Amino acid sequence: MTKKVFLKNIMEDCVWELLDSILSQDPEVCNCEICRHDIVALALNELPPHYVVREKGAIYSKIRILENQYRTDIYQELTKALIAVKKAPRHRD
Ligand SMILES: [Zn+2]
Repeated sequence: MTKKVFLKNIMEDCVWELLDSILSQDPEVCNCEICRHDIVALALNELPPHYVVREKGAIYSKIRILENQYRTDIYQELTKALIAVKKAPRHRD
């Protein structure tokens, strides 16, 4: 049986995980799906990607390690991205 194997940028998961704590610090920022994705995209473009080979269904622990290692950077980039999106959201209301 062939195992399903794929590439995954786990930095993306880390950024998504920390997004809500950044958003909760600023109740004025829009929390819609477009803005959330814009914030994550902007932050990810500034952060180093971290690709791993994953097998479907495998238990996965490296995210925590990466998250701790890059926590400060991720928060910094998320904060910058949040300010940018808040200033110029891509949608009107
Ligand atoms: Zn929005």
